[in-house]
Amino acid sequence: MSEEIFSFQVGDFECKAISDGTFVYTDHSFFVSAPKKRMEQVLRKHDIQSGEITTPWTCLFIDTGKNRVLVDTGAGAGTVPSAGKLLQRLQNEGIKAEDIDTVILTHGHPDHIGGNTDAAGKPAFPNARYVMWKDEWEFWMSGPDLAQLDIAEEIKQFLLMSARKNLPPIKDRLYLIDRETELMPGIKLIPAPGHTPGHMALAIYSSGERLFHISDTVLYPIHLEQPDWYPGFDLMHEQAMVTKRKILDRAAAEESMVFAFHFPSPGLGHVIEKGKGWEWQPI
Ligand SMILES: [Zn+2]
Repeated sequence: MSEEIFSFQVGDFECKAISDGTFVYTDHSFFVSAPKKRMEQVLRKHDIQSGEITTPWTCLFIDTGKNRVLVDTGAGAGTVPSAGKLLQRLQNEGIKAEDIDTVILTHGHPDHIGGNTDAAGKPAFPNARYVMWKDEWEFWMSGPDLAQLDIAEEIKQFLLMSARKNLPPIKDRLYLIDRETELMPGIKLIPAPGHTPGHMALAIYSSGERLFHISDTVLYPIHLEQPDWYPGFDLMHEQAMVTKRKILDRAAAEESMVFAFHFPSPGLGHVIEKGKGWEWQPI
């Protein structure tokens, strides 16, 4: 299985999970609420001994037959050495930036909006409308200070810089959502606040098949088996916990295929209930 691009179908929809690259996080930033000893035990069980967690950043391309949709734009070229490869990989698949008519931004973090603009600061997908939750747009436009995030100061500055660079240029082609919405036949946008104020999930369905895109509702499979552990990136962590339970219970009940932006490539699998939490079953 290619770590870079994985093609699959959801009913009649042609989908591609495209890795924008990878990023290395500290274990603390992923599990700020975990008791240290217990965290070390669990990480060892998952063969992670370095204190570092590497995750891919995986964007989703959907060709519905009528629309060509991109969910999240990655880091953008030249921002992070290990990522920013989305556009090139789309091109390698014969998909040009001009072909995309809809860009859905699950939330305003740099790994999801960094590819919104090109080197000249213009929208990188010139024929697309950009879709975002209204609360999310307003949050980043309000000049937030991110003081409540339990992450390094330089990461906070990176988040703010990326929002300032990648959001204003799409203002004229923005389509803001403020309730659960069927954006087009087979693509429904679902509120999933907590990670950020207007973080969203997507239900994608065609010809009896279904994919549930949960984006950053959880960042790593360990967040399923340890339901009380949350990342320092969750802005409203109590709300994020409520959302997590709602979204993962729904994924388990519907037996949907699930796509998670940061999970090991290609980020596809199933969620089943287990103990106090859930278990990730990668495809
Ligand atoms: Zn993310």
